[in-house]
Amino acid sequence: MECLFCKIINREIPADIVYEDEHVLAFNDIDPKAPTHQLIIPKQHIATLNDIDPEHLAVVGRLQYTAARLAKEQGFAEDGYRVVMNCNGMGGQTVYHIHMHLMGGRQFTWPAG
Ligand code: AMP
Ligand code: ZN
Repeated sequence: MECLFCKIINREIPADIVYEDEHVLAFNDIDPKAPTHQLIIPKQHIATLNDIDPEHLAVVGRLQYTAARLAKEQGFAEDGYRVVMNCNGMGGQTVYHIHMHLMGGRQFTWPAG
């Protein structure tokens, strides 16, 4: 499987892992866009948001739940934070294994760029 994030899950390439359970993994983004910038991914390979099927709904919900938990644990949940999932080229997706960006520690603006 030539998927970067599957390789991180399988420990074939290193990452700075901040959370792991049976279903999801979270690690620091290698090129952070905020003081805290983490990626939360399902352990199951799903290429894009367009590939989410009904059987994936529990793990997709778990991405959101994990983002909020990590924000609380790291102390910026009350101030606020940004979660983003990019889809395909026009959405800015560069790694084709779905991931939720969790960004905190600075003021975000809207609309996103
Ligand atoms: P996206 O553009 O939404 O597909 O996001 C992909 C993210 O993965 C980017 O923010 C990259 O900085 C990040 N990234 C790429 N390679 C790695 C890596 N080896 N470890 C951690 N984050 C990575
Ligand atoms: Zn993958």
